[in-house]
Amino acid sequence: MKSPTQHHQAVRTTCPYCGVGCGLIVEPDGHGGAAIAGDPAHPANFARICSKGAALGETLTLEGRLLHPMRRQDGGKLARIGWDDALDRVASGFRQIVERHGPHAVAFYLSGQLLTEDYYVANKLMKGFIGSANVDTNSRLCMASSVAGHRRAFGSDTVPGTYADLDEADLIVLVGSNAAWCHPVLFQRMMLNKELRGARFVVIDPRRTATAQEADLFLPISPGTDTALFCGLLVHMAETHALDYAYIDAHTNGFEDALARARMIAPGLAATARATGLPVADVARFFALFCGTERVVTCYSQGVNQSAQGTDKVNAIINCHLACGRIGRPGMGPFSLTGQPNAMGGREVGGLANQLAAHMGFSAHDVDRVRRFWKAPNVAAREGLKAVQMFEAIARGEIKALWVMATNPAVSLPRAEAVRKALKSLQLFVVSENVLSNDTVNAGAHLLLPAAAWGEKDGTVTNSERCISRQRAFLRPPDEVRPDWWIVTQVARRMGFAEAFPYARAADIFREHAALSAFENGGTRDFDLGALVTISDAHYDVLDPVQWPLRAGDDRKEQRFFSVGGFFTPSRKAQFIAPEPPALREETTLDYPLRLNTGRVRDQWHTMTRTGQSPRLAMHLPEPFVELHPADARAAGLADAGFARVATAHGSCIMKVIISESQQPGSLFVPIHWSDETASCARVGDLVAPHTDPHSGQPEAKATPAVISPVVFSVHGFARTRGLLTFPPGTWWVRTAVAEGFEYRLAARLGPLHWHDFVFDAFSDRAQVVDELVGRTYSASAFAADELYGCLCVGPIDEPLQLAALSPAAAPDHGGRVFAHASSERIHAAKPIICACFAVELAAVRDAIACGQARSVAQIGRKLRAGTNCGSCITELKRLINDHRAAT
Ligand code: SF4
Repeated sequence: MKSPTQHHQAVRTTCPYCGVGCGLIVEPDGHGGAAIAGDPAHPANFARICSKGAALGETLTLEGRLLHPMRRQDGGKLARIGWDDALDRVASGFRQIVERHGPHAVAFYLSGQLLTEDYYVANKLMKGFIGSANVDTNSRLCMASSVAGHRRAFGSDTVPGTYADLDEADLIVLVGSNAAWCHPVLFQRMMLNKELRGARFVVIDPRRTATAQEADLFLPISPGTDTALFCGLLVHMAETHALDYAYIDAHTNGFEDALARARMIAPGLAATARATGLPVADVARFFALFCGTERVVTCYSQGVNQSAQGTDKVNAIINCHLACGRIGRPGMGPFSLTGQPNAMGGREVGGLANQLAAHMGFSAHDVDRVRRFWKAPNVAAREGLKAVQMFEAIARGEIKALWVMATNPAVSLPRAEAVRKALKSLQLFVVSENVLSNDTVNAGAHLLLPAAAWGEKDGTVTNSERCISRQRAFLRPPDEVRPDWWIVTQVARRMGFAEAFPYARAADIFREHAALSAFENGGTRDFDLGALVTISDAHYDVLDPVQWPLRAGDDRKEQRFFSVGGFFTPSRKAQFIAPEPPALREETTLDYPLRLNTGRVRDQWHTMTRTGQSPRLAMHLPEPFVELHPADARAAGLADAGFARVATAHGSCIMKVIISESQQPGSLFVPIHWSDETASCARVGDLVAPHTDPHSGQPEAKATPAVISPVVFSVHGFARTRGLLTFPPGTWWVRTAVAEGFEYRLAARLGPLHWHDFVFDAFSDRAQVVDELVGRTYSASAFAADELYGCLCVGPIDEPLQLAALSPAAAPDHGGRVFAHASSERIHAAKPIICACFAVELAAVRDAIACGQARSVAQIGRKLRAGTNCGSCITELKRLINDHRAAT
């Protein structure tokens, strides 16, 4: 089922995934689908896209969509209701709770997936008119430490540089960033710089990631010690006369204190090496490269941000750039790579609990200014609760009503199981969503509001380099689906604030957002869209990507900040910060002797509610896994491709084991993407401790003490069906999308009789089932109207599934088709895909390398096409070539 197409011509829009913010050209096919290509004119990507963007056409299905407002009835079932009823219930519910318990008894939890216009009205309703700042967002889990670091150093949440700096840098330092997988198109730009200009890469990461494969210098730093490394660098700069005293004197404060603290933390090369677990020679080489290269960009991402000391890490990096004056000029500066498509737009409107609006905070001046602009006498005067604290307040019963928009906190927040319990205690729990079922909805949402999905939405997003791009609709939303800004506007009107929420279209909101940014600004605030305050509807429709600042009447072409100071602190000088000595919040123990690091895989996004629809994307890494060092695997008695339970003090998961030298001893890596919707026991949020950074409130997602142990199953197998299956308790399963249905990979301790009963229970009411047991392998197929509805095969875990031995005679009416189908599934299950664009199997690439037919990425491309489209797999192709060279 697909959405009816709205446009028949190509539409320029923006990718809904990562913070690179690639421009796309979408050509609707007239039947609800679309061809996707990169926009050659977009300054973020110049036509390039990655595997996720390229597969967007596979995610436009209406299967599983929330299509009507729904209300949970007393028995727990959801029932369809009308929009008027739904909006009245939301408005009256919030109003009554505010009247009874005050404005701080309600909260909104928003998302970096929302458009700026959606974000703006939600923030305005809560902070301006309900009167609480309890508006936080999943961006708190993503880059809040960068925001806090920017504000401490610059006086504003300003990203000083642009993507062009990555083309012009001579040294690119990547800290805690697997950009090759998480910001693939930006990484391709960096790679092009390396190829054309010889830029060098330093990669600083506890894990040898795909990004690290490309490093000229890889620094496998001990977890949590980034601050020590950059303190050591600051000291080294001071001792080798690499400081820019003119810049420090003219444009900064606090240098001496920061240097003194750095000397305390990392007084020299040897001390830095000791503190970070790195060889002295490698530390020395990094310091020499940094000090000796004028054009240096330091990119950092979740490895820095997702830490209980994330803000100090950010400031330790910024300190180094300020100290040598390498900021705001071409090819140099600190650069925060944002995770989400509109994390920056959310920051612009003030969608974090510790921001008010338009990059203004809660100073008396800012509160007064926003009050006057919004004509909102009840504007919030103090910060609200940040994400982790917000859900703790829900658990304590202090917050009684919550509206979640476009995010899945029951999966992504630390201690996710506790979050689910807290959600169940709410008096009013509203969810605006695209999908009918996810872990958050299933935690007991009282009201579901069907929101427009990518392809149906119209508005703007801002990427990591402050570039505002349009997301344009190319599909007509299903009849009862509405944009988020419309839903919030309707609720605001029903709460009695109609005058302040007069919006009829997204452009109305954008103009007001621009006007607030420019209101009494006069160059005192970084964020200023004054030049767009009077943008017409027609101009908004065709707006090209634009980078702020866009001050009215300012025709300067400079898009960078701070090359000659001009910071947004009261003194207009940058502030050096003296960071706290690095120390992980929680020590490992005998019970939990390892460190759990969480992250992402190349072809999935967040909790897979969109990327999980794509069969192509499912083929790269289809199963939840834990990666660990061979020494740790040996100590725990684990085998590669076996199963393991990963446990922390907060919960446990069961995952496939990948043994790899890429992991440091003592450290486990698990990806974050699976939920209760897509796997039996792999919701990583359950494992993560709720420690947060004292400045940013961002949770520490990369250092929870953990333990790992083997899990033994007696059988493994797979199932493929057109509908969803519910397996017997104790079954380990993971679900992926395939054409016209789902594929499940299974493991269990159940014998053939149990599977026979399961198959007949699952299928016999709608299909004719044929099954057989050959040796110890059980297989079954179910036919409805002469079409294969589902099949299942389960056999001993220590043997490959012996489908080839099965006799077609077992299915006399349907011949060998059943088993041909099943065999193809087995092959699929056994052979992972490396190139998602052309479905090139890992084994085919290995074979081509081994037999000498392909000795370079280019030759692999010529022979197999792998790596010739989006390029997301190129680093893995290089690794396979290198692995082969090392082994021969
Ligand atoms: S890099 Fe990939 S996921 Fe990120 S915006 Fe570009 S196409 Fe989308």
